[in-house]
Amino acid sequence: MTEPVIHVSGLTRRFGGKTALASVSLSLSRGAVYGLVGANGAGKTTLIKHILGLLHAESGSVRVFGLDPVADPVAVLSRIGYLSEENDLPGWMRVDELIRYSRAFYPGWDDGYAEELRRAFALDPAAKIKTLSKGQKARAGLLIALAYRPELLVLDEPSSGLDPIVRRDILGAVIRTIADEGRTVLFSSHLLEEVEQVADHVTMISEGRIVLSAPLAAIKQSHGGASLAEIFIAQVGAAAPPAPEA
Ligand code: ATP
Repeated sequence: MTEPVIHVSGLTRRFGGKTALASVSLSLSRGAVYGLVGANGAGKTTLIKHILGLLHAESGSVRVFGLDPVADPVAVLSRIGYLSEENDLPGWMRVDELIRYSRAFYPGWDDGYAEELRRAFALDPAAKIKTLSKGQKARAGLLIALAYRPELLVLDEPSSGLDPIVRRDILGAVIRTIADEGRTVLFSSHLLEEVEQVADHVTMISEGRIVLSAPLAAIKQSHGGASLAEIFIAQVGAAAPPAPEA
């Protein structure tokens, strides 16, 4: 059997008296799209931070490509493309400078693909990052995360700030292509319709606990074809995320 891309086992994390993750276990295989869904404060970002090695496991273990991301950050992070909710890009740079600056860090950077994405995302190379809208900044962040063709793409709420057309036409297509190329995507989202369109596997998290984790097709089948939003509400109750705004 091939080694999982991400293997999380019995991961618990507290912040003061608050349990953000309670004995979370999860295994992600190569070449699939994993959607992580949960209400505000459910623990999605905390889980992602452990996968990136930004937080150490209080108890339990986290392995990415078989490595400990806290002990071996360079080996792990050089194989991960990451887009955060905050998306803090250097505001003083122009788009073309950001691309040149970022490519220096990654031997696998693909100039042709970066240019293709820049055009698809309609990003002006001469525009200063700080003058971009939230959605344009999200596109620039996504371009940087994708252009070195990482083995694992981790997106924390990639849709926030993106308009519905970009979400459907670009984000959806990009995520599918990555998985079809045998790479792995983990993305967190509040937008259950979007998760339903693009994910192969869905993990629902509520108050730091995984309440459901299975292939999307199996989840749908075992819930009589109900929508993911209906299934989420049945699992998590009042803590359901807001309906998509578009
Ligand atoms: P959202 O959808 O709102 O981004 P989330 O599912 O990503 O939420 P987390 O950011 O992982 O949730 O937070 C989980 C819980 O841990 C929340 O109660 C949050 O307040 C708490 N928490 C997260 N980071 C910290 C921190 N650095 N210090 C204290 N509490 C924290």
